Amino acid sequence: MSAQQETGTTTAHRVVILGAGYAGMAAAIQLAARTKRREGVQVTVVNARERFTERMRLHMTATGQRLVELSVPELLEGTGARFVRGWVSAVDANARTVRIDDDRVLHYDTLVYALGGVADTSAVPGAEEHTYTLNSAQDAELLADRLGRLGSGTVVVGGSGLTGIESAAEIAERHPELHVVLLGRTEPGAAMNPTAKAYVHAALHRLGVEVRAGVEVAKVLPESVELAGGESIVADAVLWTSGTRVSPLAAAAGLTVDERGRILTDTALRSVSHPEVYAIGDAAAIRQEYGVMHGTCQGGMPTGVHAALSIDRVLRGKQPKPFRFGYYHTPVSLGRGDAVVQFTRPDDSPRRICLTGRTAVRYKETVTASPWPTYGRMKKMPASGAFWPRGGRFTRVREGR
Ligand SMILES: Cc1cc2nc3c(=O)[nH]c(=O)nc-3n(C[C@H](O)[C@H](O)[C@H](O)COP(=O)(O)OP(=O)(O)OC[C@H]3O[C@@H](n4cnc5c(N)ncnc54)[C@H](O)[C@@H]3O)c2cc1C
Repeated sequence: MSAQQETGTTTAHRVVILGAGYAGMAAAIQLAARTKRREGVQVTVVNARERFTERMRLHMTATGQRLVELSVPELLEGTGARFVRGWVSAVDANARTVRIDDDRVLHYDTLVYALGGVADTSAVPGAEEHTYTLNSAQDAELLADRLGRLGSGTVVVGGSGLTGIESAAEIAERHPELHVVLLGRTEPGAAMNPTAKAYVHAALHRLGVEVRAGVEVAKVLPESVELAGGESIVADAVLWTSGTRVSPLAAAAGLTVDERGRILTDTALRSVSHPEVYAIGDAAAIRQEYGVMHGTCQGGMPTGVHAALSIDRVLRGKQPKPFRFGYYHTPVSLGRGDAVVQFTRPDDSPRRICLTGRTAVRYKETVTASPWPTYGRMKKMPASGAFWPRGGRFTRVREGR
Protein backbone atom coordinates (compact mmCIF):
# COMPACT_ATOMS: atom_id res chain seq x y z
CA MET A 1 0.00 0.00 0.00
CA SER A 2 1.41 3.37 -0.91
CA ALA A 3 1.98 5.77 1.94
CA GLN A 4 -0.62 8.50 2.22
CA GLN A 5 1.33 11.68 2.82
CA GLU A 6 -0.17 14.18 5.21
CA THR A 7 2.08 16.99 4.16
CA GLY A 8 -0.28 19.60 5.56
CA THR A 9 -0.34 22.85 3.59
CA THR A 10 -0.72 24.53 6.99
CA THR A 11 1.84 27.06 8.15
CA ALA A 12 0.99 26.14 11.74
CA HIS A 13 3.67 24.67 14.00
CA ARG A 14 2.84 20.96 14.06
CA VAL A 15 3.24 19.23 17.42
CA VAL A 16 2.68 15.47 17.20
CA ILE A 17 2.31 13.55 20.47
CA LEU A 18 2.92 9.80 20.24
CA GLY A 19 1.05 7.83 22.92
CA ALA A 20 -2.04 8.85 24.88
CA GLY A 21 -1.05 7.26 28.17
CA TYR A 22 -0.64 9.12 31.47
CA ALA A 23 2.31 11.20 30.22
CA GLY A 24 1.11 11.80 26.64
CA MET A 25 -2.36 12.92 27.78
CA ALA A 26 -0.85 15.33 30.31
CA ALA A 27 1.30 16.84 27.54
CA ALA A 28 -1.61 17.02 25.06
CA ILE A 29 -4.14 18.65 27.37
CA GLN A 30 -1.63 21.03 28.97
CA LEU A 31 -0.30 22.16 25.59
CA ALA A 32 -3.77 22.51 24.07
CA ALA A 33 -4.88 24.55 27.12
CA ARG A 34 -1.91 26.89 26.82
CA THR A 35 -2.17 27.42 23.08
CA LYS A 36 -5.97 27.33 22.58
CA ARG A 37 -6.32 31.08 22.11
CA ARG A 38 -3.29 31.34 19.86
CA GLU A 39 -3.23 30.77 16.12
CA GLY A 40 -0.44 28.81 14.58
CA VAL A 41 -0.09 25.69 16.76
CA GLN A 42 -1.60 22.38 15.69
CA VAL A 43 -1.56 19.55 18.25
CA THR A 44 -2.10 15.95 17.08
CA VAL A 45 -2.29 12.97 19.43
CA VAL A 46 -1.61 9.47 18.06
CA ASN A 47 -2.58 6.37 20.02
CA ALA A 48 -3.20 2.70 19.36
CA ARG A 49 -6.73 2.84 20.77
CA GLU A 50 -9.44 5.38 21.38
CA ARG A 51 -10.00 4.02 24.85
CA PHE A 52 -7.59 5.33 27.50
CA THR A 53 -5.60 2.49 29.07
CA GLU A 54 -5.64 2.81 32.84
CA ARG A 55 -2.40 0.93 33.18
CA MET A 56 -2.48 1.28 36.96
CA ARG A 57 -5.64 -0.88 36.96
CA LEU A 58 -4.53 -3.61 34.54
CA HIS A 59 -4.19 -6.17 37.35
CA MET A 60 -7.91 -5.59 37.91
CA THR A 61 -8.62 -6.16 34.19
CA ALA A 62 -6.52 -9.33 34.41
CA THR A 63 -8.86 -10.69 37.08
CA GLY A 64 -12.01 -9.97 35.11
CA GLN A 65 -13.01 -6.67 36.76
CA ARG A 66 -14.67 -4.21 34.42
CA LEU A 67 -13.25 -0.71 34.23
CA VAL A 68 -15.05 2.50 33.29
CA GLU A 69 -14.61 3.35 29.57
CA LEU A 70 -12.55 6.51 29.20
CA SER A 71 -12.43 7.93 25.67
CA VAL A 72 -9.35 9.87 24.54
CA PRO A 73 -11.06 11.59 21.57
CA GLU A 74 -13.96 12.65 23.84
CA LEU A 75 -11.59 14.17 26.36
CA LEU A 76 -9.75 16.03 23.59
CA GLU A 77 -13.03 17.51 22.32
CA GLY A 78 -13.01 21.28 22.58
CA THR A 79 -9.25 21.51 23.15
CA GLY A 80 -8.37 22.03 19.49
CA ALA A 81 -6.11 18.95 19.57
CA ARG A 82 -6.98 16.29 17.04
CA PHE A 83 -6.84 12.54 17.58
CA VAL A 84 -5.39 9.98 15.18
CA ARG A 85 -6.00 6.34 15.99
CA GLY A 86 -3.25 4.04 14.76
CA TRP A 87 -0.10 2.10 15.49
CA VAL A 88 3.13 4.04 15.18
CA SER A 89 5.41 1.83 13.08
CA ALA A 90 8.36 4.17 12.43
CA VAL A 91 9.80 7.60 13.17
CA ASP A 92 12.10 9.33 10.69
CA ALA A 93 13.94 11.86 12.84
CA ASN A 94 15.73 13.44 9.87
CA ALA A 95 12.66 13.89 7.67
CA ARG A 96 10.60 14.68 10.82
CA THR A 97 7.87 12.23 9.95
CA VAL A 98 5.97 9.50 11.75
CA ARG A 99 4.60 6.45 10.00
CA ILE A 100 1.27 5.11 11.22
CA ASP A 101 -0.15 1.65 10.47
CA ASP A 102 2.43 1.49 7.65
CA ASP A 103 0.19 3.49 5.34
CA ARG A 104 0.01 7.03 6.71
CA VAL A 105 2.71 9.61 7.27
CA LEU A 106 2.42 12.55 9.64
CA HIS A 107 4.86 15.48 9.52
CA TYR A 108 5.95 17.24 12.67
CA ASP A 109 7.91 20.29 13.69
CA THR A 110 8.00 19.15 17.32
CA LEU A 111 7.53 15.56 18.44
CA VAL A 112 6.54 14.40 21.92
CA TYR A 113 7.49 10.75 22.36
CA ALA A 114 5.34 9.08 25.04
CA LEU A 115 4.97 5.44 23.98
CA GLY A 116 5.56 4.02 27.47
CA GLY A 117 7.21 0.71 28.26
CA VAL A 118 6.36 -2.99 28.61
CA ALA A 119 7.46 -5.96 30.75
CA ASP A 120 10.79 -7.31 29.61
CA THR A 121 9.99 -10.78 28.31
CA SER A 122 13.21 -10.87 26.29
CA ALA A 123 15.58 -11.51 29.21
CA VAL A 124 14.49 -15.08 30.01
CA PRO A 125 14.15 -17.84 27.40
CA GLY A 126 10.54 -18.84 26.84
CA ALA A 127 9.04 -15.78 28.58
CA GLU A 128 8.07 -14.14 25.29
CA GLU A 129 6.24 -17.26 24.06
CA HIS A 130 4.75 -18.70 27.24
CA THR A 131 3.81 -15.87 29.59
CA TYR A 132 0.97 -13.42 29.95
CA THR A 133 1.70 -9.74 30.51
CA LEU A 134 -0.03 -6.54 31.61
CA ASN A 135 1.42 -4.63 28.65
CA SER A 136 -1.97 -3.58 27.32
CA ALA A 137 -5.65 -3.98 28.15
CA GLN A 138 -5.92 -6.74 25.54
CA ASP A 139 -3.02 -8.63 27.15
CA ALA A 140 -4.67 -8.31 30.58
CA GLU A 141 -7.98 -9.58 29.12
CA LEU A 142 -6.21 -12.66 27.73
CA LEU A 143 -5.01 -13.51 31.24
CA ALA A 144 -8.48 -12.86 32.69
CA ASP A 145 -9.91 -15.32 30.18
CA ARG A 146 -7.32 -17.96 31.05
CA LEU A 147 -7.80 -17.55 34.83
CA GLY A 148 -11.57 -17.68 34.42
CA ARG A 149 -11.35 -21.04 32.66
CA LEU A 150 -8.84 -22.74 34.97
CA GLY A 151 -11.04 -23.88 37.87
CA SER A 152 -7.97 -25.01 39.81
CA GLY A 153 -4.21 -25.08 39.39
CA THR A 154 -1.16 -22.89 39.88
CA VAL A 155 -0.51 -19.38 38.64
CA VAL A 156 3.07 -18.18 38.75
CA VAL A 157 3.77 -14.45 38.91
CA GLY A 158 7.31 -13.73 37.73
CA GLY A 159 8.77 -10.60 39.34
CA SER A 160 8.38 -9.47 42.96
CA GLY A 161 8.30 -5.73 42.21
CA LEU A 162 5.22 -3.60 42.80
CA THR A 163 3.32 -4.85 39.74
CA GLY A 164 4.11 -8.44 40.76
CA ILE A 165 2.88 -7.88 44.33
CA GLU A 166 -0.34 -6.14 43.21
CA SER A 167 -1.05 -8.82 40.60
CA ALA A 168 -0.37 -11.79 42.91
CA ALA A 169 -2.62 -10.29 45.61
CA GLU A 170 -5.39 -9.48 43.15
CA ILE A 171 -5.34 -12.96 41.55
CA ALA A 172 -5.29 -14.70 44.94
CA GLU A 173 -8.23 -12.61 46.18
CA ARG A 174 -10.36 -12.98 43.03
CA HIS A 175 -9.48 -16.64 42.44
CA PRO A 176 -9.20 -18.40 45.82
CA GLU A 177 -9.46 -21.70 43.92
CA LEU A 178 -6.01 -21.07 42.39
CA HIS A 179 -2.61 -21.45 44.03
CA VAL A 180 -0.55 -18.29 43.40
CA VAL A 181 3.25 -18.39 43.53
CA LEU A 182 5.18 -15.11 43.51
CA LEU A 183 8.78 -15.50 42.31
CA GLY A 184 11.50 -12.87 42.52
CA ARG A 185 15.13 -12.11 43.12
CA THR A 186 14.25 -9.77 45.98
CA GLU A 187 11.70 -9.94 48.77
CA PRO A 188 8.36 -8.28 48.02
CA GLY A 189 8.50 -4.72 49.34
CA ALA A 190 12.30 -4.82 49.56
CA ALA A 191 12.53 -1.05 49.02
CA MET A 192 10.00 -0.25 51.79
CA ASN A 193 10.60 0.45 55.47
CA PRO A 194 10.41 -2.60 57.81
CA THR A 195 6.80 -1.86 58.90
CA ALA A 196 5.46 -1.54 55.34
CA LYS A 197 7.44 -4.57 54.16
CA ALA A 198 6.13 -6.71 57.01
CA TYR A 199 2.59 -5.55 56.18
CA VAL A 200 3.02 -6.65 52.55
CA HIS A 201 4.28 -10.07 53.65
CA ALA A 202 1.42 -10.55 56.10
CA ALA A 203 -1.17 -9.58 53.46
CA LEU A 204 0.28 -11.95 50.86
CA HIS A 205 0.36 -14.73 53.49
CA ARG A 206 -3.27 -14.03 54.46
CA LEU A 207 -4.29 -14.28 50.79
CA GLY A 208 -2.47 -17.60 50.46
CA VAL A 209 0.23 -16.38 48.07
CA GLU A 210 3.36 -18.54 48.21
CA VAL A 211 6.32 -16.15 48.12
CA ARG A 212 9.62 -17.50 46.78
CA ALA A 213 12.23 -14.73 47.13
CA GLY A 214 15.89 -14.97 46.15
CA VAL A 215 15.20 -17.11 43.12
CA GLU A 216 16.17 -16.65 39.49
CA VAL A 217 13.87 -17.84 36.70
CA ALA A 218 16.06 -19.57 34.12
CA LYS A 219 13.45 -20.66 31.60
CA VAL A 220 9.71 -20.60 30.99
CA LEU A 221 8.19 -23.69 29.39
CA PRO A 222 4.59 -24.18 28.18
CA GLU A 223 3.45 -25.71 31.51
CA SER A 224 6.21 -24.91 33.97
CA VAL A 225 8.86 -22.48 35.13
CA GLU A 226 12.44 -23.63 35.59
CA LEU A 227 14.57 -21.96 38.24
CA ALA A 228 18.34 -21.52 38.14
CA GLY A 229 19.58 -24.64 39.92
CA GLY A 230 17.12 -26.85 38.06
CA GLU A 231 13.96 -26.78 40.20
CA SER A 232 10.79 -26.88 38.14
CA ILE A 233 7.46 -25.33 39.18
CA VAL A 234 4.37 -26.56 37.39
CA ALA A 235 2.34 -23.59 36.15
CA ASP A 236 -1.06 -23.43 34.46
CA ALA A 237 -0.46 -19.76 33.70
CA VAL A 238 2.56 -17.48 34.12
CA LEU A 239 2.24 -13.71 34.42
CA TRP A 240 5.47 -11.86 33.65
CA THR A 241 6.03 -8.53 35.43
CA SER A 242 9.80 -8.51 35.77
CA GLY A 243 11.88 -5.69 34.26
CA THR A 244 10.86 -3.17 31.63
CA ARG A 245 11.80 -2.52 28.05
CA VAL A 246 10.66 0.09 25.59
CA SER A 247 9.75 0.11 21.92
CA PRO A 248 12.76 -0.12 19.58
CA LEU A 249 11.29 2.74 17.49
CA ALA A 250 13.37 5.48 19.11
CA ALA A 251 16.66 3.66 18.64
CA ALA A 252 15.73 2.76 15.06
CA ALA A 253 15.03 6.44 14.40
CA GLY A 254 18.61 7.29 15.37
CA LEU A 255 17.67 9.07 18.60
CA THR A 256 20.25 8.65 21.34
CA VAL A 257 18.95 6.04 23.81
CA ASP A 258 20.22 4.34 26.96
CA GLU A 259 20.94 0.61 27.32
CA ARG A 260 17.20 -0.05 27.75
CA GLY A 261 16.20 1.90 24.63
CA ARG A 262 14.85 4.91 26.54
CA ILE A 263 15.47 8.31 24.96
CA LEU A 264 18.19 10.29 26.73
CA THR A 265 17.00 13.80 27.49
CA ASP A 266 18.50 17.12 28.48
CA THR A 267 17.20 18.98 31.54
CA ALA A 268 14.26 20.38 29.54
CA LEU A 269 13.21 16.82 28.47
CA ARG A 270 14.45 17.24 24.88
CA SER A 271 16.30 14.41 23.17
CA VAL A 272 20.04 15.04 23.52
CA SER A 273 20.51 14.18 19.84
CA HIS A 274 17.32 15.72 18.37
CA PRO A 275 16.16 18.74 20.40
CA GLU A 276 12.90 19.02 18.46
CA VAL A 277 11.92 15.69 20.08
CA TYR A 278 10.70 15.71 23.69
CA ALA A 279 10.69 12.36 25.54
CA ILE A 280 8.42 11.79 28.53
CA GLY A 281 7.03 9.06 30.78
CA ASP A 282 8.35 5.52 30.85
CA ALA A 283 9.94 5.89 27.37
CA ALA A 284 12.41 8.52 28.55
CA ALA A 285 15.66 8.29 30.54
CA ILE A 286 15.45 11.48 32.60
CA ARG A 287 18.33 12.25 34.92
CA GLN A 288 17.74 13.94 38.25
CA GLU A 289 20.18 14.64 41.10
CA TYR A 290 19.42 11.21 42.61
CA GLY A 291 19.79 9.29 39.32
CA VAL A 292 17.64 8.35 36.32
CA MET A 293 13.89 8.39 37.06
CA HIS A 294 12.15 5.03 36.99
CA GLY A 295 8.77 4.49 35.31
CA THR A 296 5.76 5.67 37.30
CA CYS A 297 2.59 7.58 36.61
CA GLN A 298 3.61 9.74 39.57
CA GLY A 299 6.62 11.00 37.62
CA GLY A 300 5.22 10.49 34.10
CA MET A 301 2.40 13.04 34.35
CA PRO A 302 4.69 15.87 35.49
CA THR A 303 7.07 15.10 32.60
CA GLY A 304 4.11 15.55 30.22
CA VAL A 305 3.11 18.83 31.82
CA HIS A 306 6.70 20.08 31.74
CA ALA A 307 7.21 19.14 28.07
CA ALA A 308 4.07 21.11 27.19
CA LEU A 309 5.28 24.14 29.15
CA SER A 310 8.70 23.89 27.49
CA ILE A 311 7.22 23.67 24.00
CA ASP A 312 5.02 26.66 24.75
CA ARG A 313 7.99 28.67 26.02
CA VAL A 314 10.10 27.84 22.96
CA LEU A 315 7.22 28.82 20.65
CA ARG A 316 7.10 32.17 22.47
CA GLY A 317 10.85 32.67 21.94
CA LYS A 318 11.83 31.80 25.52
CA GLN A 319 14.21 29.21 26.94
CA PRO A 320 12.66 26.09 28.52
CA LYS A 321 13.24 25.61 32.24
CA PRO A 322 14.91 22.54 33.76
CA PHE A 323 12.64 19.72 34.92
CA ARG A 324 12.84 18.80 38.59
CA PHE A 325 10.96 15.96 40.21
CA GLY A 326 11.01 14.23 43.58
CA TYR A 327 9.02 11.11 44.50
CA TYR A 328 6.66 11.28 47.45
CA HIS A 329 4.95 7.90 47.77
CA THR A 330 4.70 4.25 46.73
CA PRO A 331 1.08 3.13 46.91
CA VAL A 332 0.54 -0.64 46.56
CA SER A 333 -2.80 -2.43 46.44
CA LEU A 334 -3.11 -5.81 48.17
CA GLY A 335 -6.39 -6.91 46.63
CA ARG A 336 -9.47 -4.66 46.79
CA GLY A 337 -9.75 -4.52 50.57
CA ASP A 338 -6.17 -3.84 51.61
CA ALA A 339 -3.20 -1.72 50.62
CA VAL A 340 -0.04 -0.11 51.87
CA VAL A 341 1.28 3.35 51.07
CA GLN A 342 4.96 3.94 51.70
CA PHE A 343 5.84 7.64 51.85
CA THR A 344 9.22 8.39 50.35
CA ARG A 345 11.94 11.00 50.16
CA PRO A 346 12.43 12.75 46.81
CA ASP A 347 15.04 10.14 45.81
CA ASP A 348 12.41 7.40 46.40
CA SER A 349 14.03 6.05 49.57
CA PRO A 350 11.42 5.11 52.20
CA ARG A 351 10.43 7.41 55.04
CA ARG A 352 9.36 6.00 58.39
CA ILE A 353 5.73 6.87 57.77
CA CYS A 354 3.34 4.57 55.91
CA LEU A 355 -0.41 3.95 55.67
CA THR A 356 -2.04 0.53 55.83
CA GLY A 357 -5.50 -1.04 55.67
CA ARG A 358 -8.65 0.92 54.73
CA THR A 359 -6.92 4.33 54.88
CA ALA A 360 -4.31 3.08 52.43
CA VAL A 361 -7.04 1.59 50.20
CA ARG A 362 -8.78 4.99 50.01
CA TYR A 363 -5.47 6.77 49.34
CA LYS A 364 -4.48 4.31 46.60
CA GLU A 365 -7.90 4.62 44.94
CA THR A 366 -7.69 8.43 45.00
CA VAL A 367 -4.27 8.28 43.34
CA THR A 368 -5.40 5.75 40.72
CA ALA A 369 -8.60 7.59 39.86
CA SER A 370 -7.11 11.08 39.82
CA PRO A 371 -5.44 11.40 36.37
CA TRP A 372 -8.67 11.53 34.33
CA PRO A 373 -10.42 14.26 36.37
CA THR A 374 -7.10 16.11 36.47
CA TYR A 375 -7.03 16.19 32.65
CA GLY A 376 -10.62 17.49 32.73
CA ARG A 377 -9.63 20.33 35.07
CA MET A 378 -6.50 21.07 33.01
CA LYS A 379 -8.68 21.51 29.94
CA LYS A 380 -10.61 24.32 31.61
CA MET A 381 -7.75 26.21 33.21
CA PRO A 382 -6.46 29.57 31.99
CA ALA A 383 -3.43 29.50 29.69
CA SER A 384 -1.15 30.64 32.53
CA GLY A 385 -1.95 27.64 34.74
CA ALA A 386 -0.36 24.25 35.13
CA PHE A 387 -0.94 21.14 37.24
CA TRP A 388 1.72 19.77 39.52
CA PRO A 389 1.72 16.93 42.07
CA ARG A 390 1.45 18.05 45.67
CA GLY A 391 0.92 15.65 48.57
CA GLY A 392 -0.25 12.79 46.34
CA ARG A 393 -2.69 14.86 44.25
CA PHE A 394 -2.30 17.05 41.20
CA THR A 395 -3.15 20.62 42.08
CA ARG A 396 -3.18 23.75 39.99
CA VAL A 397 -0.23 26.05 40.33
CA ARG A 398 -0.54 29.65 39.17
CA GLU A 399 2.67 30.29 37.38
CA GLY A 400 3.20 28.12 34.33
CA ARG A 401 6.61 27.05 35.52
C1 LIG B 1 -0.50 -3.04 37.34
C2 LIG B 1 0.23 -1.73 37.37
C3 LIG B 1 0.08 -0.88 38.46
C4 LIG B 1 0.75 0.34 38.52
N1 LIG B 1 0.56 1.15 39.60
C5 LIG B 1 1.17 2.36 39.65
C6 LIG B 1 0.98 3.26 40.75
O1 LIG B 1 0.25 2.94 41.71
N2 LIG B 1 1.58 4.47 40.73
C7 LIG B 1 2.38 4.87 39.67
O2 LIG B 1 2.89 5.99 39.71
N3 LIG B 1 2.61 4.04 38.62
C8 LIG B 1 2.03 2.80 38.58
N4 LIG B 1 2.26 1.95 37.51
C9 LIG B 1 3.18 2.39 36.45
C10 LIG B 1 2.46 3.33 35.47
O3 LIG B 1 1.29 2.72 35.00
C11 LIG B 1 3.37 3.67 34.30
O4 LIG B 1 4.57 4.19 34.79
C12 LIG B 1 2.67 4.69 33.40
O5 LIG B 1 1.60 4.05 32.72
C13 LIG B 1 3.62 5.29 32.38
O6 LIG B 1 2.92 6.25 31.63
P1 LIG B 1 3.30 6.52 30.10
O7 LIG B 1 2.36 7.57 29.62
O8 LIG B 1 4.76 6.73 29.95
O9 LIG B 1 2.99 5.14 29.34
P2 LIG B 1 1.61 4.37 29.18
O10 LIG B 1 0.64 4.73 30.23
O11 LIG B 1 1.99 2.93 29.03
O12 LIG B 1 1.05 4.93 27.79
C14 LIG B 1 1.65 4.62 26.55
C15 LIG B 1 0.59 4.78 25.47
O13 LIG B 1 1.21 4.61 24.19
C16 LIG B 1 0.44 3.70 23.41
N5 LIG B 1 1.38 3.06 22.48
C17 LIG B 1 2.49 2.34 22.78
N6 LIG B 1 3.12 1.97 21.65
C18 LIG B 1 2.39 2.46 20.62
C19 LIG B 1 2.56 2.47 19.20
N7 LIG B 1 3.63 1.88 18.61
N8 LIG B 1 1.63 3.09 18.45
C20 LIG B 1 0.56 3.72 19.03
N9 LIG B 1 0.36 3.78 20.36
C21 LIG B 1 1.28 3.15 21.14
C22 LIG B 1 -0.17 2.74 24.40
O14 LIG B 1 -1.31 2.12 23.85
C23 LIG B 1 -0.51 3.72 25.55
O15 LIG B 1 -1.76 4.31 25.36
C24 LIG B 1 1.60 0.72 37.44
C25 LIG B 1 1.76 -0.13 36.33
C26 LIG B 1 1.09 -1.35 36.30
C27 LIG B 1 1.27 -2.25 35.07
